[in-house]
Amino acid sequence: MTVALILADKGREVFTMRPETSVSDVVDILASKKIGAVVITDASDVVCGIVSERDIVREVSLRGASVLDQPVTQCMTRKVVSCSEEDTIDAVMGIMTRNRFRHLPVTANGRLAGIVSIGDVVKRKIEQAVRDAEELRNYIAG
Ligand code: AMP
Repeated sequence: MTVALILADKGREVFTMRPETSVSDVVDILASKKIGAVVITDASDVVCGIVSERDIVREVSLRGASVLDQPVTQCMTRKVVSCSEEDTIDAVMGIMTRNRFRHLPVTANGRLAGIVSIGDVVKRKIEQAVRDAEELRNYIAG
Protein backbone atom coordinates (compact mmCIF):
# COMPACT_ATOMS: atom_id res chain seq x y z
CA MET A 1 0.00 0.00 0.00
CA THR A 2 1.49 3.33 -1.05
CA VAL A 3 0.89 7.03 -0.40
CA ALA A 4 -0.55 7.31 -3.95
CA LEU A 5 -3.42 5.08 -2.81
CA ILE A 6 -4.25 7.40 0.10
CA LEU A 7 -4.18 10.46 -2.18
CA ALA A 8 -6.38 8.77 -4.78
CA ASP A 9 -8.96 8.30 -2.03
CA LYS A 10 -8.73 11.53 -0.02
CA GLY A 11 -7.70 13.95 -2.76
CA ARG A 12 -4.69 16.16 -3.25
CA GLU A 13 -5.82 19.41 -1.74
CA VAL A 14 -3.25 20.99 0.60
CA PHE A 15 -4.03 24.12 2.59
CA THR A 16 -1.09 26.46 2.15
CA MET A 17 -0.42 29.96 3.43
CA ARG A 18 2.31 32.54 2.89
CA PRO A 19 5.04 33.27 5.47
CA GLU A 20 3.66 36.76 6.16
CA THR A 21 0.24 35.39 7.20
CA SER A 22 -0.57 36.13 10.84
CA VAL A 23 -0.74 33.28 13.34
CA SER A 24 -4.32 34.35 14.02
CA ASP A 25 -5.28 33.78 10.36
CA VAL A 26 -3.62 30.35 10.49
CA VAL A 27 -5.67 29.52 13.59
CA ASP A 28 -8.85 30.48 11.68
CA ILE A 29 -7.95 28.13 8.81
CA LEU A 30 -7.03 25.26 11.16
CA ALA A 31 -10.39 25.67 12.90
CA SER A 32 -12.61 26.25 9.86
CA LYS A 33 -11.08 23.48 7.75
CA LYS A 34 -10.84 21.08 10.71
CA ILE A 35 -7.17 20.34 10.01
CA GLY A 36 -4.10 20.08 12.24
CA ALA A 37 -1.41 21.70 10.11
CA VAL A 38 -0.87 24.16 7.29
CA VAL A 39 2.04 24.10 4.85
CA ILE A 40 3.78 27.44 4.33
CA THR A 41 4.90 28.22 0.78
CA ASP A 42 6.79 31.19 -0.64
CA ALA A 43 5.80 33.33 -3.64
CA SER A 44 7.22 30.67 -5.98
CA ASP A 45 5.05 28.04 -4.28
CA VAL A 46 8.11 26.38 -2.79
CA VAL A 47 7.55 24.81 0.64
CA CYS A 48 9.33 26.87 3.30
CA GLY A 49 7.68 25.64 6.49
CA ILE A 50 4.92 23.78 8.24
CA VAL A 51 2.90 24.91 11.23
CA SER A 52 0.74 22.65 13.34
CA GLU A 53 -1.66 23.38 16.17
CA ARG A 54 1.08 22.21 18.57
CA ASP A 55 3.45 24.95 17.43
CA ILE A 56 0.81 27.59 18.09
CA VAL A 57 -0.15 26.21 21.51
CA ARG A 58 3.55 26.13 22.47
CA GLU A 59 4.23 29.71 21.35
CA VAL A 60 1.09 31.09 23.01
CA SER A 61 2.12 29.34 26.24
CA LEU A 62 5.69 30.66 26.02
CA ARG A 63 5.04 34.19 24.78
CA GLY A 64 1.39 34.91 25.40
CA ALA A 65 -1.54 35.68 23.12
CA SER A 66 0.30 38.57 21.39
CA VAL A 67 1.97 35.91 19.21
CA LEU A 68 -1.36 35.65 17.36
CA ASP A 69 -0.60 39.01 15.72
CA GLN A 70 2.87 37.89 14.60
CA PRO A 71 3.67 36.35 11.20
CA VAL A 72 3.48 32.57 11.11
CA THR A 73 7.27 32.42 10.60
CA GLN A 74 7.46 32.94 14.40
CA CYS A 75 5.85 29.54 14.99
CA MET A 76 6.57 27.35 11.98
CA THR A 77 9.08 24.54 11.55
CA ARG A 78 11.40 25.43 8.67
CA LYS A 79 13.00 22.07 7.99
CA VAL A 80 10.07 20.21 6.46
CA VAL A 81 10.26 16.46 5.98
CA SER A 82 8.19 15.21 3.06
CA CYS A 83 7.52 11.92 1.31
CA SER A 84 6.75 10.78 -2.21
CA GLU A 85 3.72 9.03 -3.67
CA GLU A 86 5.77 5.87 -4.12
CA ASP A 87 6.53 5.59 -0.40
CA THR A 88 4.72 2.78 1.38
CA ILE A 89 2.32 3.46 4.21
CA ASP A 90 4.63 1.53 6.55
CA ALA A 91 7.54 3.77 5.55
CA VAL A 92 5.44 6.88 6.21
CA MET A 93 4.42 5.51 9.62
CA GLY A 94 8.10 5.01 10.40
CA ILE A 95 8.96 8.60 9.43
CA MET A 96 6.13 9.99 11.58
CA THR A 97 7.03 7.80 14.57
CA ARG A 98 10.77 8.57 14.42
CA ASN A 99 10.23 12.31 14.04
CA ARG A 100 7.23 12.54 16.39
CA PHE A 101 4.99 14.42 14.00
CA ARG A 102 1.62 13.67 12.48
CA HIS A 103 1.73 15.39 9.07
CA LEU A 104 3.76 14.67 5.98
CA PRO A 105 3.53 16.74 2.81
CA VAL A 106 3.83 14.72 -0.39
CA THR A 107 6.03 16.13 -3.14
CA ALA A 108 6.38 15.16 -6.80
CA ASN A 109 9.05 16.79 -8.97
CA GLY A 110 9.74 19.29 -6.20
CA ARG A 111 6.09 20.44 -6.04
CA LEU A 112 3.44 19.82 -3.41
CA ALA A 113 1.27 16.91 -4.50
CA GLY A 114 -0.76 16.28 -1.33
CA ILE A 115 -0.47 15.73 2.39
CA VAL A 116 -0.98 12.69 4.60
CA SER A 117 -1.77 12.76 8.30
CA ILE A 118 -1.39 10.08 10.95
CA GLY A 119 -5.19 9.74 10.78
CA ASP A 120 -5.03 8.84 7.07
CA VAL A 121 -2.33 6.27 7.76
CA VAL A 122 -4.05 4.67 10.76
CA LYS A 123 -7.34 4.45 8.82
CA ARG A 124 -5.65 2.40 6.05
CA LYS A 125 -3.79 0.21 8.51
CA ILE A 126 -7.06 -0.65 10.29
CA GLU A 127 -8.81 -1.35 6.97
CA GLN A 128 -5.94 -3.64 6.00
CA ALA A 129 -6.04 -5.47 9.35
CA VAL A 130 -9.80 -6.02 8.97
CA ARG A 131 -9.28 -7.38 5.43
CA ASP A 132 -6.46 -9.69 6.58
CA ALA A 133 -8.60 -11.04 9.44
CA GLU A 134 -11.51 -11.64 7.05
CA GLU A 135 -9.24 -13.52 4.61
CA LEU A 136 -7.87 -15.66 7.44
CA ARG A 137 -11.39 -16.44 8.67
CA ASN A 138 -12.45 -17.43 5.14
CA TYR A 139 -9.31 -19.54 4.71
CA ILE A 140 -9.89 -21.39 7.99
CA ALA A 141 -13.61 -21.84 7.31
CA GLY A 142 -12.98 -23.02 3.73
P1 AMP B 1 2.29 17.56 14.50
O1 AMP B 1 2.47 16.28 15.26
O2 AMP B 1 2.19 17.34 13.02
O3 AMP B 1 1.22 18.43 15.07
O4 AMP B 1 3.66 18.40 14.63
C1 AMP B 1 4.53 18.32 15.74
C2 AMP B 1 5.75 19.20 15.43
O5 AMP B 1 6.42 18.71 14.25
C3 AMP B 1 5.46 20.67 15.13
O6 AMP B 1 6.54 21.44 15.60
C4 AMP B 1 5.38 20.75 13.62
O7 AMP B 1 5.73 22.01 13.09
C5 AMP B 1 6.43 19.72 13.24
N1 AMP B 1 6.10 19.04 11.98
C6 AMP B 1 4.90 18.53 11.63
N2 AMP B 1 4.98 17.94 10.42
C7 AMP B 1 6.25 18.09 10.01
C8 AMP B 1 6.98 17.71 8.83
N3 AMP B 1 6.40 17.02 7.85
N4 AMP B 1 8.28 18.07 8.74
C9 AMP B 1 8.87 18.75 9.75
N5 AMP B 1 8.27 19.12 10.87
C10 AMP B 1 6.97 18.80 11.02
